[in-house]
Amino acid sequence: MIAHLCCSVDAGYFLKKLKEEYPNEKIIGFFYDPNIHPYSEFKLRSLDTKRICEKLGIEYVEGDYNYEEWLRAVKGLESEPEKGARCSVCFDFSLEEAARFAKEKGDNKVTTSLLMSPMKSHEQLEAIGKVIKRKYGVDFLAVDYRKKGGTQAQQEYAKKTQMYRQDYCGCLYGIWQQKENQEIIDELVSPYPFQILPSSIEEKLRFYENRLELEERGVNYKIVKENFLNYRLLNSKITSKKKPVNHYTLFYSYIDRPQRVRIETEKDNIAYGNRAQVIFVKLDKINALLNKKYQNIKDFFTNPLKFEEELIIREKITNTKYSLSPIIILEEFEDIRYDIEIDAKIYPDNKEILIKF
Ligand code: SF4
Repeated sequence: MIAHLCCSVDAGYFLKKLKEEYPNEKIIGFFYDPNIHPYSEFKLRSLDTKRICEKLGIEYVEGDYNYEEWLRAVKGLESEPEKGARCSVCFDFSLEEAARFAKEKGDNKVTTSLLMSPMKSHEQLEAIGKVIKRKYGVDFLAVDYRKKGGTQAQQEYAKKTQMYRQDYCGCLYGIWQQKENQEIIDELVSPYPFQILPSSIEEKLRFYENRLELEERGVNYKIVKENFLNYRLLNSKITSKKKPVNHYTLFYSYIDRPQRVRIETEKDNIAYGNRAQVIFVKLDKINALLNKKYQNIKDFFTNPLKFEEELIIREKITNTKYSLSPIIILEEFEDIRYDIEIDAKIYPDNKEILIKF
Protein backbone atom coordinates (compact mmCIF):
# COMPACT_ATOMS: atom_id res chain seq x y z
CA MET A 1 0.00 0.00 0.00
CA ILE A 2 1.20 3.51 -0.78
CA ALA A 3 0.48 6.04 1.96
CA HIS A 4 0.86 9.54 0.61
CA LEU A 5 2.35 11.66 3.42
CA CYS A 6 2.06 15.42 3.80
CA CYS A 7 3.78 16.18 7.15
CA SER A 8 4.94 14.41 10.30
CA VAL A 9 2.04 15.52 12.52
CA ASP A 10 -0.57 14.12 10.13
CA ALA A 11 1.54 11.13 9.09
CA GLY A 12 2.65 9.86 12.54
CA TYR A 13 -0.61 8.84 14.17
CA PHE A 14 -2.14 7.99 10.78
CA LEU A 15 0.60 5.45 9.97
CA LYS A 16 0.42 4.00 13.47
CA LYS A 17 -3.30 3.33 13.05
CA LEU A 18 -2.86 2.11 9.47
CA LYS A 19 -0.32 -0.46 10.64
CA GLU A 20 -2.73 -1.66 13.32
CA GLU A 21 -5.63 -1.95 10.86
CA TYR A 22 -3.58 -3.56 8.07
CA PRO A 23 -0.98 -5.67 9.91
CA ASN A 24 -0.16 -7.79 6.85
CA GLU A 25 0.22 -4.94 4.43
CA LYS A 26 3.63 -3.59 3.39
CA ILE A 27 3.16 0.16 3.69
CA ILE A 28 5.41 2.57 1.81
CA GLY A 29 5.34 6.19 3.01
CA PHE A 30 5.46 8.46 -0.04
CA PHE A 31 6.18 12.06 0.90
CA TYR A 32 4.90 14.18 -1.94
CA ASP A 33 4.50 17.91 -1.24
CA PRO A 34 5.42 20.00 -4.32
CA ASN A 35 2.94 22.61 -3.07
CA ILE A 36 5.18 23.58 -0.15
CA HIS A 37 6.79 26.98 -0.18
CA PRO A 38 9.68 27.61 0.33
CA TYR A 39 11.94 24.69 -0.57
CA SER A 40 13.64 24.72 2.86
CA GLU A 41 10.21 24.13 4.44
CA PHE A 42 9.71 21.18 2.06
CA LYS A 43 13.04 19.73 3.23
CA LEU A 44 12.14 20.34 6.88
CA ARG A 45 8.76 18.60 6.61
CA SER A 46 10.37 15.75 4.71
CA LEU A 47 13.11 15.36 7.34
CA ASP A 48 10.63 15.07 10.19
CA THR A 49 8.24 12.78 8.28
CA LYS A 50 11.13 10.47 7.43
CA ARG A 51 12.10 10.41 11.10
CA ILE A 52 8.62 9.31 12.12
CA CYS A 53 8.55 6.61 9.40
CA GLU A 54 11.83 5.27 10.70
CA LYS A 55 10.43 5.17 14.23
CA LEU A 56 7.47 3.14 12.95
CA GLY A 57 9.58 0.88 10.71
CA ILE A 58 7.96 2.13 7.50
CA GLU A 59 9.87 2.50 4.24
CA TYR A 60 10.11 6.17 3.25
CA VAL A 61 10.34 7.69 -0.22
CA GLU A 62 10.66 11.43 -0.88
CA GLY A 63 8.85 12.44 -4.09
CA ASP A 64 10.07 15.14 -6.47
CA TYR A 65 9.67 18.80 -5.64
CA ASN A 66 8.11 19.72 -9.00
CA TYR A 67 6.99 23.10 -7.79
CA GLU A 68 6.67 24.80 -11.18
CA GLU A 69 4.29 22.11 -12.39
CA TRP A 70 2.21 22.59 -9.24
CA LEU A 71 2.11 26.37 -9.80
CA ARG A 72 0.86 25.77 -13.34
CA ALA A 73 -1.83 23.39 -12.06
CA VAL A 74 -3.32 25.98 -9.66
CA LYS A 75 -2.99 28.96 -12.02
CA GLY A 76 -6.10 31.14 -11.81
CA LEU A 77 -7.01 29.78 -8.36
CA GLU A 78 -4.51 31.81 -6.36
CA SER A 79 -7.16 33.73 -4.38
CA GLU A 80 -9.33 30.75 -3.52
CA PRO A 81 -9.90 30.20 0.24
CA GLU A 82 -8.65 27.10 2.04
CA LYS A 83 -10.87 24.06 1.32
CA GLY A 84 -11.82 25.77 -1.99
CA ALA A 85 -11.07 24.93 -5.64
CA ARG A 86 -7.28 25.45 -5.33
CA CYS A 87 -7.11 22.86 -2.55
CA SER A 88 -9.08 20.36 -4.67
CA VAL A 89 -6.56 20.75 -7.49
CA CYS A 90 -3.73 20.48 -4.94
CA PHE A 91 -5.12 17.16 -3.59
CA ASP A 92 -5.66 15.87 -7.16
CA PHE A 93 -2.07 16.72 -7.95
CA SER A 94 -0.64 14.83 -4.96
CA LEU A 95 -2.96 11.85 -5.06
CA GLU A 96 -2.55 11.33 -8.80
CA GLU A 97 1.21 11.22 -8.29
CA ALA A 98 0.74 8.76 -5.42
CA ALA A 99 -1.46 6.61 -7.72
CA ARG A 100 1.20 6.72 -10.48
CA PHE A 101 3.84 5.78 -7.92
CA ALA A 102 1.65 2.87 -6.73
CA LYS A 103 1.31 1.60 -10.33
CA GLU A 104 5.06 1.85 -10.80
CA LYS A 105 5.59 -0.20 -7.64
CA GLY A 106 2.92 -2.75 -8.65
CA ASP A 107 0.68 -1.75 -5.71
CA ASN A 108 -3.07 -1.35 -5.94
CA LYS A 109 -3.97 0.61 -2.81
CA VAL A 110 -3.42 4.27 -2.00
CA THR A 111 -4.29 6.40 0.97
CA THR A 112 -3.20 9.77 2.34
CA SER A 113 -2.34 11.36 5.67
CA LEU A 114 -4.28 14.42 4.48
CA LEU A 115 -7.29 12.49 5.82
CA MET A 116 -6.00 13.29 9.34
CA SER A 117 -6.02 17.04 8.96
CA PRO A 118 -9.04 18.87 10.42
CA MET A 119 -8.34 21.57 7.82
CA LYS A 120 -8.95 19.19 4.92
CA SER A 121 -12.35 18.11 3.64
CA HIS A 122 -12.97 14.35 3.74
CA GLU A 123 -15.61 14.75 1.02
CA GLN A 124 -13.10 16.43 -1.33
CA LEU A 125 -10.55 13.69 -0.68
CA GLU A 126 -13.06 10.90 -1.20
CA ALA A 127 -14.21 12.44 -4.49
CA ILE A 128 -10.58 12.51 -5.70
CA GLY A 129 -10.22 8.90 -4.56
CA LYS A 130 -13.00 7.89 -6.97
CA VAL A 131 -11.26 9.70 -9.84
CA ILE A 132 -7.93 7.96 -9.28
CA LYS A 133 -9.71 4.59 -9.05
CA ARG A 134 -11.20 5.23 -12.51
CA LYS A 135 -8.01 6.65 -14.01
CA TYR A 136 -5.34 4.38 -12.52
CA GLY A 137 -7.28 1.37 -11.27
CA VAL A 138 -5.94 1.75 -7.70
CA ASP A 139 -8.23 1.65 -4.66
CA PHE A 140 -8.32 4.73 -2.48
CA LEU A 141 -8.70 3.95 1.23
CA ALA A 142 -10.62 6.84 2.81
CA VAL A 143 -9.87 5.74 6.38
CA ASP A 144 -11.11 8.06 9.11
CA TYR A 145 -8.84 7.98 12.16
CA ARG A 146 -10.04 11.37 13.36
CA LYS A 147 -13.13 9.84 14.96
CA LYS A 148 -13.44 8.59 18.54
CA GLY A 149 -10.81 10.91 20.00
CA GLY A 150 -8.38 10.30 17.12
CA THR A 151 -7.55 13.98 16.67
CA GLN A 152 -6.65 14.29 20.36
CA ALA A 153 -4.59 11.10 20.27
CA GLN A 154 -2.82 12.42 17.17
CA GLN A 155 -1.87 15.63 19.00
CA GLU A 156 -0.65 13.67 22.02
CA TYR A 157 1.49 11.43 19.82
CA ALA A 158 2.96 14.49 18.05
CA LYS A 159 3.79 16.05 21.42
CA LYS A 160 5.29 12.86 22.83
CA THR A 161 7.55 12.36 19.82
CA GLN A 162 8.41 16.11 19.70
CA MET A 163 7.47 16.51 16.05
CA TYR A 164 8.03 19.62 14.01
CA ARG A 165 4.76 21.58 13.91
CA GLN A 166 4.32 23.91 10.97
CA ASP A 167 1.91 26.81 11.35
CA TYR A 168 0.56 26.99 7.81
CA CYS A 169 -0.83 24.49 5.31
CA GLY A 170 2.02 24.82 2.86
CA CYS A 171 1.55 26.83 -0.29
CA LEU A 172 2.51 30.36 -1.21
CA TYR A 173 -1.13 31.43 -1.60
CA GLY A 174 -2.38 29.86 1.61
CA ILE A 175 0.32 31.68 3.64
CA TRP A 176 -1.15 35.08 2.79
CA GLN A 177 -4.49 34.04 4.21
CA GLN A 178 -3.23 32.00 7.15
CA LYS A 179 -0.64 34.51 8.37
CA GLU A 180 -2.22 37.81 7.45
CA ASN A 181 -1.99 39.16 11.02
CA GLN A 182 1.70 38.38 11.41
CA GLU A 183 4.14 41.29 11.41
CA ILE A 184 6.52 39.41 9.13
CA ILE A 185 5.71 36.41 6.97
CA ASP A 186 9.14 34.88 7.07
CA GLU A 187 8.36 32.28 4.42
CA LEU A 188 8.04 35.15 1.95
CA VAL A 189 11.34 36.81 2.85
CA SER A 190 14.42 35.74 0.90
CA PRO A 191 17.58 36.05 2.94
CA TYR A 192 20.97 36.52 1.31
CA PRO A 193 22.19 33.17 0.00
CA PHE A 194 23.52 30.95 2.78
CA GLN A 195 22.61 33.43 5.53
CA ILE A 196 20.59 31.81 8.31
CA LEU A 197 18.48 34.34 10.19
CA PRO A 198 17.01 33.69 13.64
CA SER A 199 13.70 31.83 13.59
CA SER A 200 13.81 31.49 9.79
CA ILE A 201 12.88 28.23 8.05
CA GLU A 202 16.57 27.67 7.36
CA GLU A 203 17.34 27.95 11.07
CA LYS A 204 14.51 25.54 11.90
CA LEU A 205 15.86 23.07 9.34
CA ARG A 206 19.32 23.26 10.92
CA PHE A 207 17.73 22.88 14.38
CA TYR A 208 15.84 19.70 13.43
CA GLU A 209 18.92 18.28 11.70
CA ASN A 210 20.80 18.79 14.98
CA ARG A 211 18.00 17.08 16.86
CA LEU A 212 18.33 14.04 14.58
CA GLU A 213 22.02 13.91 15.31
CA LEU A 214 21.30 13.93 19.05
CA GLU A 215 18.84 11.07 18.63
CA GLU A 216 21.37 9.09 16.61
CA ARG A 217 23.88 9.58 19.43
CA GLY A 218 21.28 8.51 22.00
CA VAL A 219 21.28 11.88 23.83
CA ASN A 220 18.10 12.70 25.79
CA TYR A 221 16.67 16.11 25.09
CA LYS A 222 13.60 18.28 25.38
CA ILE A 223 12.49 20.98 22.93
CA VAL A 224 11.35 24.19 24.61
CA LYS A 225 10.53 27.63 23.25
CA GLU A 226 12.12 30.93 24.14
CA ASN A 227 11.05 34.48 23.36
CA PHE A 228 13.37 37.02 21.81
CA LEU A 229 13.37 40.22 19.81
CA ASN A 230 13.65 39.41 16.12
CA TYR A 231 14.58 41.66 13.22
CA ARG A 232 14.15 41.73 9.47
CA LEU A 233 15.66 44.26 7.13
CA LEU A 234 13.20 44.98 4.32
CA ASN A 235 15.00 47.73 2.50
CA SER A 236 18.08 49.86 2.95
CA LYS A 237 19.12 52.77 0.77
CA ILE A 238 22.10 55.10 1.15
CA THR A 239 22.81 57.94 -1.23
CA SER A 240 25.47 60.60 -1.40
CA LYS A 241 24.86 63.63 -3.63
CA LYS A 242 21.82 61.69 -4.94
CA LYS A 243 24.00 58.77 -6.09
CA PRO A 244 23.52 55.30 -4.56
CA VAL A 245 26.31 54.13 -2.28
CA ASN A 246 27.25 50.45 -2.04
CA HIS A 247 26.76 49.43 1.55
CA TYR A 248 25.80 46.60 3.87
CA THR A 249 23.41 47.22 6.76
CA LEU A 250 24.04 45.21 9.88
CA PHE A 251 21.36 43.16 11.70
CA TYR A 252 19.36 45.20 14.30
CA SER A 253 20.08 48.50 12.51
CA TYR A 254 17.03 50.64 13.07
CA ILE A 255 16.03 54.14 12.10
CA ASP A 256 12.47 55.42 12.33
CA ARG A 257 12.56 57.79 9.34
CA PRO A 258 14.90 58.82 6.52
CA GLN A 259 17.78 60.94 7.79
CA ARG A 260 20.53 63.09 6.32
CA VAL A 261 23.59 62.28 8.40
CA ARG A 262 26.90 64.11 8.54
CA ILE A 263 30.05 62.36 9.71
CA GLU A 264 31.21 64.14 12.86
CA THR A 265 33.92 61.98 14.31
CA GLU A 266 36.15 59.36 12.76
CA LYS A 267 38.59 57.07 14.47
CA ASP A 268 40.17 53.79 13.60
CA ASN A 269 38.00 53.19 10.46
CA ILE A 270 34.78 53.88 12.38
CA ALA A 271 32.81 57.09 11.77
CA TYR A 272 30.00 58.49 13.90
CA GLY A 273 27.13 60.47 12.38
CA ASN A 274 25.63 63.62 13.87
CA ARG A 275 22.15 62.11 14.26
CA ALA A 276 20.14 58.89 14.67
CA GLN A 277 23.23 57.27 16.26
CA VAL A 278 24.39 56.16 12.81
CA ILE A 279 27.76 54.43 12.74
CA PHE A 280 29.71 53.87 9.53
CA VAL A 281 32.36 51.17 9.49
CA LYS A 282 34.95 50.63 6.81
CA LEU A 283 35.22 47.24 5.18
CA ASP A 284 38.85 46.99 6.35
CA LYS A 285 37.70 47.26 9.94
CA ILE A 286 35.28 44.33 9.47
CA ASN A 287 38.07 42.29 7.90
CA ALA A 288 40.30 43.10 10.87
CA LEU A 289 37.63 42.39 13.49
CA LEU A 290 36.59 39.04 12.06
CA ASN A 291 39.70 38.00 10.20
CA LYS A 292 37.87 38.13 6.86
CA LYS A 293 39.02 38.95 3.35
CA TYR A 294 36.15 40.91 1.85
CA GLN A 295 37.37 42.88 -1.20
CA ASN A 296 34.25 44.96 -1.71
CA ILE A 297 30.64 45.34 -0.59
CA LYS A 298 29.36 43.00 -3.32
CA ASP A 299 31.23 40.17 -1.58
CA PHE A 300 28.87 40.54 1.39
CA PHE A 301 25.89 39.60 -0.73
CA THR A 302 27.44 36.50 -2.24
CA ASN A 303 29.21 35.43 0.93
CA PRO A 304 27.33 37.13 3.76
CA LEU A 305 28.38 37.32 7.36
CA LYS A 306 26.79 34.84 9.72
CA PHE A 307 24.09 36.35 11.91
CA GLU A 308 26.26 35.55 14.95
CA GLU A 309 29.20 37.40 13.35
CA GLU A 310 27.01 40.46 12.83
CA LEU A 311 26.20 40.42 16.54
CA ILE A 312 29.90 40.17 17.41
CA ILE A 313 30.65 43.25 15.28
CA ARG A 314 27.77 45.15 16.88
CA GLU A 315 28.94 44.33 20.36
CA LYS A 316 32.57 45.18 19.60
CA ILE A 317 31.65 48.52 18.08
CA THR A 318 28.91 49.68 20.46
CA ASN A 319 30.02 47.86 23.62
CA THR A 320 26.51 46.54 24.13
CA LYS A 321 24.48 43.58 22.88
CA TYR A 322 21.28 45.63 22.94
CA SER A 323 22.21 48.44 20.60
CA LEU A 324 19.84 49.24 17.74
CA SER A 325 22.08 51.91 16.26
CA PRO A 326 22.27 51.71 12.49
CA ILE A 327 25.67 50.22 11.62
CA ILE A 328 26.51 50.64 7.96
CA ILE A 329 29.50 49.05 6.30
CA LEU A 330 31.10 51.08 3.48
CA GLU A 331 34.11 50.44 1.31
CA GLU A 332 35.46 53.97 1.99
CA PHE A 333 34.19 57.14 3.63
CA GLU A 334 34.03 59.01 0.34
CA ASP A 335 31.79 61.79 1.52
CA ILE A 336 30.84 63.37 4.81
CA ARG A 337 27.08 63.53 4.15
CA TYR A 338 24.80 60.57 3.48
CA ASP A 339 21.04 60.21 3.03
CA ILE A 340 19.91 57.09 4.82
CA GLU A 341 16.66 55.14 4.57
CA ILE A 342 16.27 51.87 6.46
CA ASP A 343 13.00 49.98 6.42
CA ALA A 344 13.29 47.32 9.11
CA LYS A 345 10.97 45.50 11.50
CA ILE A 346 11.82 44.68 15.10
CA TYR A 347 9.26 42.35 16.66
CA PRO A 348 8.77 39.85 19.50
CA ASP A 349 9.22 36.32 18.24
CA ASN A 350 10.01 32.88 19.61
CA LYS A 351 12.19 29.99 18.64
CA GLU A 352 12.81 26.43 19.71
CA ILE A 353 15.84 25.46 21.72
CA LEU A 354 17.16 22.07 22.79
CA ILE A 355 17.71 21.24 26.42
CA LYS A 356 20.04 18.25 26.67
CA PHE A 357 19.96 15.89 29.65
S1 SF4 B 1 -3.88 25.80 1.20
FE1 SF4 B 1 -2.95 23.79 1.49
S2 SF4 B 1 -4.29 22.28 0.47
FE2 SF4 B 1 -4.84 24.34 -0.24
S3 SF4 B 1 -3.67 24.62 -2.13
FE3 SF4 B 1 -2.43 25.48 -0.49
S4 SF4 B 1 -1.12 23.80 0.19
FE4 SF4 B 1 -2.75 22.89 -1.05
